[in-house]
Amino acid sequence: MYSKVKGTNDVLMENAKRLSSIEAFLKRVVGVYGYEEIRVPILSQTELIHRSSGDTSDIVKKETFDFEDRGGRMITLRPEGTAPVIRAVIENKLYTRQLPLKLFYMGDMFRYERPQKGRYREFSQFGVEVVGTNSPYMDAEVILMASTIFKLLQVKKYVVKINTLGDKESRENYKNALKEYFKDKLDSLCEDCKERFNTNPLRILDCKVDANSEILLNAPKIQDYLSEKSKAEFEIVKKYLELMNVPFVVDTKLVRGLDYYTSTVFEVVIDGVDGGQSATICGGGRYDDLIKSLGGPELGCVGFGFGLERLADIVDDNIDIYKKSVLCQLIPIGDDAKVHFVKLLNELRLQGVDSEMDYEAKNLKQHFKAADANNAKFIIIAGDEELKAGTLNVKNKITNEEVTLHEGQLIRYMMQVVGESEESCGCGCHHDGEECCCEDGHDEDCCCHKHE
Ligand code: AMP
Repeated sequence: MYSKVKGTNDVLMENAKRLSSIEAFLKRVVGVYGYEEIRVPILSQTELIHRSSGDTSDIVKKETFDFEDRGGRMITLRPEGTAPVIRAVIENKLYTRQLPLKLFYMGDMFRYERPQKGRYREFSQFGVEVVGTNSPYMDAEVILMASTIFKLLQVKKYVVKINTLGDKESRENYKNALKEYFKDKLDSLCEDCKERFNTNPLRILDCKVDANSEILLNAPKIQDYLSEKSKAEFEIVKKYLELMNVPFVVDTKLVRGLDYYTSTVFEVVIDGVDGGQSATICGGGRYDDLIKSLGGPELGCVGFGFGLERLADIVDDNIDIYKKSVLCQLIPIGDDAKVHFVKLLNELRLQGVDSEMDYEAKNLKQHFKAADANNAKFIIIAGDEELKAGTLNVKNKITNEEVTLHEGQLIRYMMQVVGESEESCGCGCHHDGEECCCEDGHDEDCCCHKHE
């Protein structure tokens, strides 16, 4: 008997379905905002990960899966998506295209962490990166998009936390102030924080062990060390979020665990999942120095990463994205109509109109039950009488409108519903050549001008 590697998961069918529904949903949302997919390798040069995350970050110090391949190269399984995506941007000179680039990625990440619920050694992330933007409006748009995802998924009690780490000058001043503050309090801090004091004192603020200690709570706040420019930019981010009705809190202790962040940082957190600790579902921010430090041009960037397992854990099973849905349910009345509809079903599918028919249903009740189970948006129904007349009844389940169409009109009508036909005015008629195939039921705006 073999067992799975510690911290990894078999994603069984039901959960695989949930994850892929969430992935498809996320792709749709970011597609609306103009993001394009990029796929990058799981195997990374170790140097890339160490340099981008920072040699002193927890990820690099304790969590990366590093190994030497058979050719003696040091390889790391990617622990996050940003550095590999930015490497691809540089290597493929994507920055020579129209900027900003709006990229999204999805895939498995690997961190050698202590496994527990919502914390695995292999997990999936969905992330976006905007490359070539210096505008704080873009920071706010990225935060808005993350928050919209929670809203559309009907997640309750999520909190958007934002902060700014300021520009280089602000961060240097702040780091010095933190050093000054912590220097005679080191004995009260955990071992990791003692080290962070020397390597990156900002990270002390992120410490989970000392999180609620008086010392941390009274530490200097970044807001008091911000340059005028950083202050003004952060104000824009806040104003935009207010304008878009995105509820947020400013958390002055929020610094994020990776070295590459600059100015705006944010997290979306769910408080008290399973009555326990809060869980960070999404984290991101601006990283203006990363491209340059990896050998590319100087370009501002901003992005976020979602943990898909954590997101799936908090999304209600009953929401729409998990429900099966088809556009058309075909309901034949009688055996002749059934044979006829089998052909029609195939024609609809060939035209990309997703359609279903219950071959086993013995009566109308069972057909309608199948339509409900499939969440069909249109019911297409016909019996002997309609067959003789060459017509079909089409019912829109959302608006409750019903139309009778000639059979030849159906495909065009449905294709128009799926947005593939721009030719028709909505009357559903063919406009083959000069002749309009329909006989009646047109409004004045019919684009075929036959009914004016
Ligand atoms: P990060 O790259 O650390 O900013 O993480 C982004 C998101 O990935 C987090 O908010 C989590 O939702 C998810 N995540 C990070 N580490 C893990 C892990 N070990 N297991 C599962 N999800 C994780």
